[in-house]
Amino acid sequence: MKCIILLGAPGAGKGTVAADLAEQTQFLHVSTGDILREAVKQGTAVGLEAKSYMEAGDLVPDEVIAKLVRERLAAGGADDRYMFDGFPRTLKQAELLDSVISDMEGELLSVFLLEVTDDVVISRLTGRRVCKKCGAVYHVTNIPPKVEGVCDKCGGELYQRTDDTETTVRNRLDVYSAQTSDLIGHYDSLKLLEKVDADQGKDLVEREIIRCLEDLESRQ
Ligand code: AMP
Repeated sequence: MKCIILLGAPGAGKGTVAADLAEQTQFLHVSTGDILREAVKQGTAVGLEAKSYMEAGDLVPDEVIAKLVRERLAAGGADDRYMFDGFPRTLKQAELLDSVISDMEGELLSVFLLEVTDDVVISRLTGRRVCKKCGAVYHVTNIPPKVEGVCDKCGGELYQRTDDTETTVRNRLDVYSAQTSDLIGHYDSLKLLEKVDADQGKDLVEREIIRCLEDLESRQ
């Protein structure tokens, strides 16, 4: 198992970039946020536990995330390549990932830090709209659908995530600074960190990451 991590504040574009890269590379997109949202939708025990944290923009407890990630990786094969989006978010989760990687004799190839300014985050997230059916992501002004409120890809209805309101977005940014930004120093000290300017459009971000991945591949 080999993996990469997309790190960065909420709204840095991790989900959008990961979904595109999953189509262009061998890496499977694993988003703990998507897994949790699905659990909430299905009303599972995990979903019921996670719901209130998510609505407030707070982190779901590490033990819940540990269980989800272990289950997701156990379902895969030894040759799988994963691209984590929104995980790890705490040093505890980074330790969990280290131990899963060593159990599976895998390797963490690189950590891409998508750097973005707060103003860009707030405008991106409060304008974000997501398809209820296929999960495709739009923005009311930056990536508008052809018909307002309707997904171009599947015709599904577009909605605003309950945690994309301005108050919750500001809390998510505070939570990121307090709990997730420690990971930057952690992965930097391991010489795994690649910084990418994520204020620029997603095409440039994706091109930069693909170039790094090709570089890594050629050195393997
Ligand atoms: P995201 O889609 O990555 O922005 O995640 C949405 C929400 O799900 C977050 O605000 C958290 O409440 C929760 N969440 C997602 N991933 C994690 C994680 N790795 N650790 C803790 N909470 C998470």
